[in-house]
Amino acid sequence: METKIIKIDKNQINEEVIKEAGALLREGKLVAFPTETVYGLGADALQEEAAKRTYEAKGRPSDNPLIVHIADYDDLKKIAINIPPETDMLAAHFWPGPLTMIFQKSDIVPYGTTGGLDTVAVRMPVDPIAQALIREAGGFVSAPSANTSGRPSPTTAQHVEEDLNGKIDMILDGGTVDIGLESTILDMTVSPPMILRPGAITEEMFEKVIGPVNVDQTLLSENSTQAPKAPGMKYRHYAPKAKLMIVEGDLREEILAIRQLAYEADRKGHPVGIIATSETLPFYNHGIVKNIGTRENEKSIARNLYGVLREFDEENVDTIYSESFAVQGMGTAIMNRLEKAAGHLRISASEVVKLQKYRRITFVSGTDSARGPMCAELLRHCDLKQEYVIDSRGMVVLFPEPANQKAEAVMKSVQMTLEGHSSLQLDPEEIQEDTLILTIDQSEKEKILAECDASENVYTLNEFTGDNTEIPDPYGKPLTAYGECLEVLERIIKKLADKLNSLMEEGKWEEQS
Ligand code: AMP
Ligand code: MG
Repeated sequence: METKIIKIDKNQINEEVIKEAGALLREGKLVAFPTETVYGLGADALQEEAAKRTYEAKGRPSDNPLIVHIADYDDLKKIAINIPPETDMLAAHFWPGPLTMIFQKSDIVPYGTTGGLDTVAVRMPVDPIAQALIREAGGFVSAPSANTSGRPSPTTAQHVEEDLNGKIDMILDGGTVDIGLESTILDMTVSPPMILRPGAITEEMFEKVIGPVNVDQTLLSENSTQAPKAPGMKYRHYAPKAKLMIVEGDLREEILAIRQLAYEADRKGHPVGIIATSETLPFYNHGIVKNIGTRENEKSIARNLYGVLREFDEENVDTIYSESFAVQGMGTAIMNRLEKAAGHLRISASEVVKLQKYRRITFVSGTDSARGPMCAELLRHCDLKQEYVIDSRGMVVLFPEPANQKAEAVMKSVQMTLEGHSSLQLDPEEIQEDTLILTIDQSEKEKILAECDASENVYTLNEFTGDNTEIPDPYGKPLTAYGECLEVLERIIKKLADKLNSLMEEGKWEEQS
C-alpha cells in the first residue's frame, strides 16, 4: 500500500487535507496524526475492522487496548457509562490535554478497540490538527502510538514513516510534538482513581484537583509478579536496538561510572552510546554521546527521549549507558519509560566507582624536568584498564620550564615526547583522596608527608611497585646516562601499570536486572 504523507500546519489548518484524512478514517482506514504527546495511529474507534487493521500495522498484541480520542466533552457520554462525578473536575483541569481516563464502556464501543475489556480508555487531545481530524472522522478515533510495537514511540512524522511506511494509508506531518511522552492513564473505575501509567499530568497535579489518587504498585517495582493494570505496561517497550542500561547513583558517581564503562569499551574496540544532559556532556570523552536535554527543564528531556533512543539505532553501538533522573514530577514518567526501554537493566554507579581507588596519578621529582615527566609520559602509553589523569610535579620549581633536552632526546628514541611539558611545583593541597603520589626518591616522600597528612596517597615509585632498583639521577651527565635511566623507568612503569590494573579488577561490578 502506498502511504500518503502530507505536511500540515497546526496554526493554519488546511481543511481539504483534514477532509481527505477524515474520509479515510470513516472508510475504516489508518491515518497517523500528531498529538501533543506522541504521534497517534488513527482509526475509527467504533469499527471493529479498523481496530484489527491497527493491531496488524503496529504488530501489537491484540490484548493491548487502544485509547479512544474525542474532541468534544459531551461525546464522552456516548462511549462511557457510570462516569464518576470527579470526572467533570478532572476534565475541566486537564482536558483537552495529556490525560487518558478509563471508564466502563458503552455498547457502541467494539471489543476489538478495548482489547476484549469492558472498559474504555478515553482522551481529549489539545493539538488542533488532532481535534479537527477527530471531528471530521465522526468523533471517535482510536489512536495508539504510531510506531511498530516495542519500538520507541514516534515524536516526529519521520519516526512514523520509519516504522509504518507502506502499512498505513496516510501520515499527517505536523512537525515535532510538544510533550514527547504518552499520556498519563488514570483508572476512573476504582475509588480513589488509580494512575496506571505516569505522564505529564502528575500525581501531585491530580491531588490538587480531586485529592489523593492511588498509583498502580506494579509501576514502582519491576520485580512485581502481578500483571500491571494497563495491559500495555507489561510489554517491553520503547526499546532501542542496542542494550540500554541505566546507571544509578548520585550524579557525580554516575558520571565517573559511565566514563569508566565507556573507557573500558573503547579500549576493547566497541564504543558505547551515552545518554547525557547539557550539564554533563563535557565530562565524557569516550563513546558516542547524545544530549537528551537539560536537567534544568525536565520537559526538554521528555521531548527528546524517544528521538535520542531512535538516533542510537543509526549508530554502530551495541550498548547504551544512560544517566538517571529524579523520580518526581515529570521525572516519574521519564524514568518509567527509560526503565521499560532498558528492560529494567541497571548498574549501580557506586559499584563501578568503588573499584577506582585512584583517579589521578602524579609523579614527583626534584625539579619536574626529567624523570617525573618521563614517568608520566611512559605511563600514558601503557594499556590501563582505567582512565587516569596522569601528570608530574616538582618539589622545588621556581618558574615553569620545558623538559630537559636530553630527557626529551631519549624519549624521542622510543617514539614519545615531552614536548609541551612545563614544570610545576607540587601544591600539597592538590592531593585529594583519589590522588596517588609517586615520588622518585625517598627524600621527596618524606618532605611531602612532613607537610601534609596523606600517608595513604604518597609512596615512592619503588615502594608502590615492589621494585628495588635504584632509579639513577642523570642530571648533568651525558646522554647515555639518560638512556640508562629511561631503561630503568620503562621497566618500573610497566610494573606500575600491572599493579594499577590488578587494583582495578575488571568485571567485579555486576549488572543488576
Ligand atoms: P498507546 O496507545 O500506545 O499509548 O497505549 C495505550 C495504553 O493504554 C496501553 O498501555 C493500554 O494497555 C492502556 N489502556 C487502553 N485501554 C485500557 C483499558 N481499558 N484499561 C486499562 N488500560 C488501558
Ligand atoms: Mg505505544
